[in-house]
Order: sequence, then C-alpha cells, then structure tokens
Amino acid sequence: MKRDNWFVTEYAARSAGKPDRCFYCNSMIGELHKTECVIRIKTAVMDFTIRMVVDVPEFWKPEDIEFRYNEGSWCADNLIDMIKKEEGDCLCSHVQAEYVRDATIEDEETWGAVRVNELES
Ligand SMILES: [Zn+2]
Repeated sequence: MKRDNWFVTEYAARSAGKPDRCFYCNSMIGELHKTECVIRIKTAVMDFTIRMVVDVPEFWKPEDIEFRYNEGSWCADNLIDMIKKEEGDCLCSHVQAEYVRDATIEDEETWGAVRVNELES
C-alpha cells in the first residue's frame, strides 16, 4: 500500500545531516520527500514458506498430514518450538520468501505487522 502524504518532519533529519531537511533526499521540513527517497515506504504482501521434516504416523496419507496442520487442533504457534529444536545454522536454508502483491488496506488490517499510514516521515 502506498500513501501520498510523505511530508518531511524532524524524523527524517539525522545528526550527520542538516537539521532542517531530510538526510536522504534533502527536501526541507514541510515539503514532500522526493519520489526516490528511502523514507517513502510501501507495504507488500509476502508468503514465507518454511520447509521442515516432521514425524507423523506411518500409515497417514498426504491429506491426513495436511489436515493435521491445516484443519486439526494443532496450533501454528507450535512451529516456534519446532523451529527452535533445529540445531546449528540459521533458518535461511529453510525459508523461501515470495512477493504476492502490493498490500491493500485490507491486507494491512488482516496480516499487517506494519501500517504505512502510521509510519513516521
Ligand atoms: Zn526524504
């Protein structure tokens, strides 16, 4: 999701720059940040897929396994403990990130960890 009112505030000034303007695009406080300024943020919907090995009853079919994790009583919060049990390297080799689309306001309300209209500028 994009927004149009990216006015420069004191937030965009940095101690290494001048106090009356954006450190990144040099627009003055009260003006709009330039189109290419890094302060202008949009939100995007992403899918993060985690690949891991789990143990299930031997006789279960694929649909039984998917039912357990998608529709059964299993809670996805358990993934946090399951991931912690993996020793050694970080999660990078287990996770695939895929861009879905630019977010809508409905996406932000449903899945948003960030809301573009609440960001400082
Ligand atoms: Zn700027």
